Amino acid sequence: MIKNFVDIHTHTDNSPDGKHNAMYLCECAMTAGLRAIAFTDHCEVDVYKRDHYDRIVRQSYFAILKAINAFEGEILVLKGIELGEAHYDIKTSEEILAAQQYDFVLGAVHNLRGQDDFYFIPTFEGYDLKALMSEYFDEILGLIEWGNFDSLAHLTYPLRYFFERSQKRFDLSVLSHKIDDILSLLAEKDKALEINTKGLRSPINEMCPSFEIVKRFKELGGEKITVGSDAHYGHELGAGIKEAEEVALAAGFKTKFIYQDREPFELIIDHSN
Ligand SMILES: [Zn+2]
Ligand SMILES: [Zn+2]
Repeated sequence: MIKNFVDIHTHTDNSPDGKHNAMYLCECAMTAGLRAIAFTDHCEVDVYKRDHYDRIVRQSYFAILKAINAFEGEILVLKGIELGEAHYDIKTSEEILAAQQYDFVLGAVHNLRGQDDFYFIPTFEGYDLKALMSEYFDEILGLIEWGNFDSLAHLTYPLRYFFERSQKRFDLSVLSHKIDDILSLLAEKDKALEINTKGLRSPINEMCPSFEIVKRFKELGGEKITVGSDAHYGHELGAGIKEAEEVALAAGFKTKFIYQDREPFELIIDHSN
């Protein structure tokens, strides 16, 4: 069994698309052999009041506290949150983060301003994908400039849905300068890049971001990576984590990070037995 196996991007039933509660997920995480798990329920800042995230976020935090108490000494449970579109409403984002003592904050962009999550766009027929990706990358830059998060979640997220809806792969090389700007700024601000394994369970069958981007992050001075399955079910916990660590190793990273009280802790990636 792999030592120090951790999964720090997971969702409970306090996420709109999560299916299982935190207590059950802790049982599953232990069965999967995980040393640590972070629950990172969604909080979409741009629709915070409209979609009742004010209530949902408090419920999520309370459920995590309960799981921490119940599983003390058995598995390390971290209090996380996946903040979507945080920089669209910085005041609200800062209030959310100040209200609770989070261990770990994922920064994410799931939709462009005033638009639906890429997940909900039924077809990309007629869309200018280059313009769409360019705008998405600009928003990622804005998120990093704000910077009150620990790890950048699933960079290149829209590609998953482009592929699902059109079976076409978008060639990112036309936007490589923007990707370099993102990775350089992330490294400069000493933030982590997440290797998210959900795509391995999707038709696109790829890590998010790809090996090339993880490698480029290392070349541009990136020092921290985190790994997460983005599990929405108990059986998905730990899925693809070993593969994500192999990507990290191949890209030149020897360690991965977890966060407690918003402080990074380095763990050796050890695949020796
Ligand atoms: Zn996400
Ligand atoms: Zn997620």
